[in-house]
Amino acid sequence: MLKISNLHKSYPIGDSSLHVLKGINFEVEQGEMVAIMGSSGSGKSTLLNIIGILDEHDSGEYTLDGVEIKDLTEKKAAVYRNKFLGFIFQSFNLINYKNALENVALPLYYQGLKRKPRLEKAMFHLEKVGLKDWAHHLPSELSGGQNQRVAIARALASDPKLLLADEPTGALDTTTSYEIMEFLQKLNDEGKTILIVTHEEDIAAMCKRVIRLRDGIIMEDNKVEQVRVKQDV
Ligand code: ADP
Ligand code: MG
Repeated sequence: MLKISNLHKSYPIGDSSLHVLKGINFEVEQGEMVAIMGSSGSGKSTLLNIIGILDEHDSGEYTLDGVEIKDLTEKKAAVYRNKFLGFIFQSFNLINYKNALENVALPLYYQGLKRKPRLEKAMFHLEKVGLKDWAHHLPSELSGGQNQRVAIARALASDPKLLLADEPTGALDTTTSYEIMEFLQKLNDEGKTILIVTHEEDIAAMCKRVIRLRDGIIMEDNKVEQVRVKQDV
């Protein structure tokens, strides 16, 4: 699914630069559910943004679904993002003057889908996250957990191969966080590949593999016994 070799990234700071990723190596297979952990400033978001083609690496190699991601034009990058990737963020990143249905439908608009199939598909995904009855409500009328579900439905609407989540439970209370994680586990059970950035141990333990970053390098990369949010019956 993805392969990263000797990846480096620095940010320019005035006349000098800040070396954030210092030679990252790992591979992710289809169907994995991986937590990327590390303290604040360790480079987690930088890494996820490079994986998500929202940012570019300076050197090293990054291959996504067999495509080498390097020096892409804005247009090509957008095509790959649309085709391969779904994003979930800590702050949901919904458009606050659009209702839940319109938010979920938006990426389908950029894919060129006509209005009717767009809204039908969006409704299908809203129903999947249990928010059919909230389709015509604005983000301000929904709880944090509900808004994150809308964001997940939006991420899934374009049927991405890889779901990227940057601290998806960071703005939620524990109960709501676990509900979101239960949903992500269900998606992964169905075969979706998921990468989750978190600094919470309990959230990481709900994944199947934990990668620990420190000062821009991988300190640990281990398969773990996945903690299920709810026991299967
Ligand atoms: P994390 O997500 O683990 O908290 P980040 O990847 O956001 O870490 O940031 C890693 C380091 O890079 C931090 O020191 C941060 O201040 C710096 N940084 C992040 N983005 C930028 C940027 N666009 N320009 C300059 N420095 C940045
Ligand atoms: Mg971050």
